[in-house]
Amino acid sequence: MKHVVIVGGGFAGLNCALKLAFHPNIRITLIDKNNYQQFQPLLYQVATAGLAPTNAAFAFRNVFRRYPNVDIKMGEVVSVDLKTRAAEVADGQKYQGDFLVLAAGSQVNFFGTPGADKHAFPLYSLHDAEVLRSRILAVLESADRDPSLIAKGALNFVIVGGGPTGTEMAGALGDMIQLALKDLYKDLDVSKAKVFLVDRDHKVLSAFSSKSQKYAARMLEQRGVQLKLGTSAKEVTSGHLVLSDGTTIPTHTVIWAGGLKASSLSSDLGVPLAHGGRLDVQPDLGVKDFPGVYALGDFANVTGADAKPLPQLASVAEQAGKHCAKNIKTVVDGGAGKPFHYLDKGIMAMIGRNSAVAELGKHRHELQGPIAFAAWLGVHAALLTTLRAKIDTVVEWGWDYLGKSTADSVLDRASQANVDWKEEEERSDSEVH
Ligand SMILES: Cc1cc2nc3c(=O)[nH]c(=O)nc-3n(C[C@H](O)[C@H](O)[C@H](O)COP(=O)(O)OP(=O)(O)OC[C@H]3O[C@@H](n4cnc5c(N)ncnc54)[C@H](O)[C@@H]3O)c2cc1C
Repeated sequence: MKHVVIVGGGFAGLNCALKLAFHPNIRITLIDKNNYQQFQPLLYQVATAGLAPTNAAFAFRNVFRRYPNVDIKMGEVVSVDLKTRAAEVADGQKYQGDFLVLAAGSQVNFFGTPGADKHAFPLYSLHDAEVLRSRILAVLESADRDPSLIAKGALNFVIVGGGPTGTEMAGALGDMIQLALKDLYKDLDVSKAKVFLVDRDHKVLSAFSSKSQKYAARMLEQRGVQLKLGTSAKEVTSGHLVLSDGTTIPTHTVIWAGGLKASSLSSDLGVPLAHGGRLDVQPDLGVKDFPGVYALGDFANVTGADAKPLPQLASVAEQAGKHCAKNIKTVVDGGAGKPFHYLDKGIMAMIGRNSAVAELGKHRHELQGPIAFAAWLGVHAALLTTLRAKIDTVVEWGWDYLGKSTADSVLDRASQANVDWKEEEERSDSEVH
């Protein structure tokens, strides 16, 4: 019986484990620091109270409950020995395999922006989304009680990064403000809420066609989003954001969608790393000089057909996970692994209600508006890990769409999200004097 140790149960690691399951000569240990898979494409909907956290996270033990050869271990891997194919978790337990699959994904990259690590809200994990949702709700509650806080930026929401995550977040916030909040906060002048989207580029959605970019910009502006393009975040404090063009925006909610780097695990592997701390792999996804070790998904630097690195996308990670499993099975059966070829089905981004962009297939057939909106929902529902998740999420979307409401406005992370307005006032007084 061969043992496969998988580090990280995201799109890559989970699909690798699912494909290896039921093989008569293979047992799998899947290690993850969480006991659930997080579905990043839906995190912005959790952050804007459109979906509950349980719509965007799936417990591994449920997913694998009928898979006798998959063992789940919850633990943070703190070191990896590529030579012996062993992973060690924080409490010292070691897992050594005949094969080691590294699929630890990525983490936020603040690019050294002063104050961002302390004061900005990243959006990479389920925890990030829950804390951010609580901050958005906390400032709304504060301004509802004391409207004078609006002048101090309580209702200014700034998103840094105009890629798909930042654009989706900005559009969802715009919709939330225009459609849902009036009914929820009867005393609050919701029209005073402002959403800013900052990007150093002069356009949003840089990976998309210029037609899609223009459409996205127009749809964001229709939702009241103010585009601050051609400028970048220079400093984040607890009460404002300074831009490279000198503008200062008073705000208590800076949302960071400005960049990613490979999970910190890559920095301790003792091998040279590619751009963004990603681990270089050979065409079969194996790590050079370390037989039996593979790297996948956001953690790996995989070269595509155009000799450029493949993008950090769920579809790339999912296909790589399945391909890696196939290669491991082939090697176990005495054969040699085959090169990975990514099947590019296209890219899409949601802007908001009835508005999305999609560029489908190799020839990038472009869709915009309600058709792209429906396509986005369909594709993401299909990607969800379990049947129950697919049904629950589609039902939630239906309620939100028909009721123009936010399903899950629960401020459950108050200790991490509430603003101490007194302390803020004292700080800004001391800055002035
Ligand atoms: C907000 C957001 C929205 C996105 N939207 C889309 C989209 O719409 N479409 C799309 O194609 N892509 C999207 N992406 C990108 C996509 O989510 C990633 O490319 C994909 O998740 C990568 O899969 P992965 O398996 O490599 O990593 P992940 O899915 O991040 O999984 C990595 C796993 O490793 C675990 N892990 C990390 N470090 C350790 C450790 N030291 N020990 C143990 N476990 C560890 C983590 O807990 C996690 O479960 C989005 C990303 C974000 C952040």
